[in-house]
Amino acid sequence: MRLAIGGAEIGEMAPRVKSSSAAARRAAEVLKRFDVDAPPVALEGICRAEGIAVCARPFDYVAGVFINDDVFPVIVVNSRERRARQRFTIAHELGHYFLGHRRKSFAEPATDSRQERDAQRFAACLLMPAAWVRQYWRAYKANVENRLSILAALFDVSRAALELRVKELALGGRVREKR
Ligand SMILES: [Zn+2]
Repeated sequence: MRLAIGGAEIGEMAPRVKSSSAAARRAAEVLKRFDVDAPPVALEGICRAEGIAVCARPFDYVAGVFINDDVFPVIVVNSRERRARQRFTIAHELGHYFLGHRRKSFAEPATDSRQERDAQRFAACLLMPAAWVRQYWRAYKANVENRLSILAALFDVSRAALELRVKELALGGRVREKR
């Protein structure tokens, strides 16, 4: 059963997507569709518009769970994790959703698979679009000591996630900061 919410059918944007560059493209499409043009990406608005409920529970072993239900999709994040990690988990689950992964439920971290890698890539591209990261990385080039922390705060992501993205984009300069 499909349920129409806000005039759009759930799963409307979710034809199956195969490659990781397609995951990046889909993330860019989602940002465009929801008029998100600056960090931090407001995941709440995207979830609300898609009719996806988000809540938090104190899990012991999982970062999050996504119940990929046609009628009432729910993302549950681990309330014991920091906000930036919770945001990444939500973005990852949105990856499963927008990439049209068909399983009924996902518990993270899941065993390595193509779908998991694509959801992970979607999350990184959704929260840290390449053009924005490049732009801010350059803007703060005079503050090499702190720019990783500054950008992590601006994008509302963990330093680890940002560091990975900066390396992936080969932005150069000093990535490591003194603690
Ligand atoms: Zn997953």
